[in-house]
Amino acid sequence: THEFLFYCRSGYEADLSSELEHKLARQNRFGYGRFSKDKGFLRFQITPSGKVQKQDVSIQSQCDAMPRLSSIIFARQKTLIISELSFSNMRDRVGEVVEGLQAWMSENAQAILFGDVRVEYPDTESGKEIAKFSKKFTVPLRSALRKNGVLSKQQSHSLPYLHVFFEQGDACILAISMPGDRSEDLLGIKRLKFPADAPSRSTLKLEEAITLFCTKQQEQALFQTGMSAVDLGACPGGWTYQLVSRGLRVEAVDNGAMDDKLMQSGLVSYHAADGFTYTPKDKHVDWLVCDMIEKPDRVAKLMTHWLTSRLASAAIFNLKLPMKKRYLTLAPLIEEFEAAHKSGEQDFLMCAKHLYHNRDEVTFMIIKNSQMVAEFASKQVL
Ligand code: SAM
Repeated sequence: THEFLFYCRSGYEADLSSELEHKLARQNRFGYGRFSKDKGFLRFQITPSGKVQKQDVSIQSQCDAMPRLSSIIFARQKTLIISELSFSNMRDRVGEVVEGLQAWMSENAQAILFGDVRVEYPDTESGKEIAKFSKKFTVPLRSALRKNGVLSKQQSHSLPYLHVFFEQGDACILAISMPGDRSEDLLGIKRLKFPADAPSRSTLKLEEAITLFCTKQQEQALFQTGMSAVDLGACPGGWTYQLVSRGLRVEAVDNGAMDDKLMQSGLVSYHAADGFTYTPKDKHVDWLVCDMIEKPDRVAKLMTHWLTSRLASAAIFNLKLPMKKRYLTLAPLIEEFEAAHKSGEQDFLMCAKHLYHNRDEVTFMIIKNSQMVAEFASKQVL
């Protein structure tokens, strides 16, 4: 059996577990999660499928047996567990990590050169106590790993990374992440600086979504000066701010008050209207964004209507989650999106993530425009 270590927001362990089970079951594969509530991580064991061929034991194929990180809504990081250590000498934890790694490599006839090492901990109150230690620990660990020839001289994005995960100081999990199927950020958390002139904290949600779903190059192709957008539930303007800063013209729809400075940009028109009945001034916009706090199925229906009626080429929106069974609430809505959009001839792309800056909501991006979809090499599937 292969066991994975996933990071998530504290309180969402059960949702992540049911998401993984559901996604594996769709491929006739099975597994189960081991977790405690509010711990901010999950261990997930996958049961090997009938015929295990020799080449299936490679780290890459073990990782590929699990859904890709980009397709997992509730996970921030995906790693494959290779070993667990309880330290016998607390003063030489670096030495014991290196030894543990060497032992695993020789037992499994694996010679891996890592592109980086990440000393990590859960994103919880008690995890924070490890934060300072982890920074200090990384420096000598890095040089010891280099000395042993298992860590590249310079950080390399194209190699596996070694993750050393501490829930407490006296034990750790050693795990591996693979290039192209991991978060490059420590703890899988995208730290963003709040722009001083943005009208609300919500602005970080849209910024995180855009930078997580798109590479820099895709972002530049998808958000261009002169493009148009509608922002439903726009006030005070944090999302509009992100669009305006990328040069888009925005129709801001809300009954509340918009930020004055944003209105002075000359790129925003304000419409005091109901977001559920509003239609764009020129019958079509490139982007629809929506942050209205409403029942998720109501918002989902509205988004599908805009995209299938070609009122918008693409959309980014939030779906508010209930307190329990959050994945089970989302799953049928995702299936409806697939059914609505796949049936047409047009290409479509859908991404969804429980962002670091989200609380009880998930952010979706759906693109229905072929030219825009073509910017993505592989279509993400949820
Ligand atoms: N995205 C905004 C930002 O970054 O500043 C914050 C949006 S706030 C979470 C939700 C907004 O949706 C509120 O300003 C509320 O007035 C608006 N809203 C809720 N229901 C609406 C409706 N039916 N039509 C238009 N606006 C609505």
